[in-house]
Amino acid sequence: MAEVTVFDGAGCIGGNKVHLSFADERGKSRGVFFDFGMNYSKMERYYEEFLRPRSNRGIHDLLAMGIVPPLACYRHDLIPEDVDRSIARRVTVDALLISHAHMDHVGHAALLDTGIPFACTPMTAAILKSLRDCSKGDVQYDCPYSSIRTPVEKEPRCVSSSRRYMGRDLLLTDECSSGLRELYSSTPSSRSGSSRSTYIPGAIGGLEDLDMEVQCFPVDHSVYGAVAFSVNTEEGWVVYSGDLRLHGRNGDETRRFAKEARGLEPRLLIVEGTRASREDRDESEEMVEENCLRAVSEERGLVVADFGPRNVGGWRRSDASPPPPAGSL
Ligand SMILES: [Zn+2]
Repeated sequence: MAEVTVFDGAGCIGGNKVHLSFADERGKSRGVFFDFGMNYSKMERYYEEFLRPRSNRGIHDLLAMGIVPPLACYRHDLIPEDVDRSIARRVTVDALLISHAHMDHVGHAALLDTGIPFACTPMTAAILKSLRDCSKGDVQYDCPYSSIRTPVEKEPRCVSSSRRYMGRDLLLTDECSSGLRELYSSTPSSRSGSSRSTYIPGAIGGLEDLDMEVQCFPVDHSVYGAVAFSVNTEEGWVVYSGDLRLHGRNGDETRRFAKEARGLEPRLLIVEGTRASREDRDESEEMVEENCLRAVSEERGLVVADFGPRNVGGWRRSDASPPPPAGSL
């Protein structure tokens, strides 16, 4: 029997960790996660900008604070000796389906066992790889590859980073460009030619490698590369929207997704509803642009614009020259 378990993400903004288990046509048990994000409200109960989970305790603090659920699908190298593995729930995870690269949807994905491939758009893969290459090694950015942790000899409750970098397999929803393949072939440390560090990139394949019926649909959102997914189970299609909007420049893609998802006659629709109950519909990205342009044109001095580095989606996908460098990937 197909079963959906919302481990996180209900009744809050983001933090989505939605598990789907089902049997394939051969009766084999299969499973996927739809997103594995960071729940900001849970994090903010204990942590703020400079107060972070202790990196040398691996996954310990996140489990102890109830920020991530106790599951038997985490990276072994992040589990220190004093974590009780007996309470971890077993789940079948053939892949993580990533809807988009916002941290509340992907921020805890790097905790998942490195044998679990990530399925996403090439654009999402490019964003995640770039984030990792620019990070200082915080585990939340470890999606495309990670430094393998090893137990500290005299204190096995602690783990420390090594110079061995292990990549994770990718299942892309579209063809992989040569630029993206090149981006995934190295890390900043492997490019520097350091003989003391090693990097084994993950394999890059497609959704068909999953050997299950999965579809993806581009949707409009405030980051490039956002998609919804559907998975066919023995009880019908299960559709997961991820974050989406209608009022952006690519709102037609969201409408197309809604139409195509409806055509599947899904058994279940899991949809983001952060602002579903709001009445103030009279707003659009065009209005934001007009307001920004007016504010800038009225100003005679220096204008400093500040915005989230990933919240830059907005160019129509059909535009001939999308802005570099994202468009070149
Ligand atoms: Zn989002």
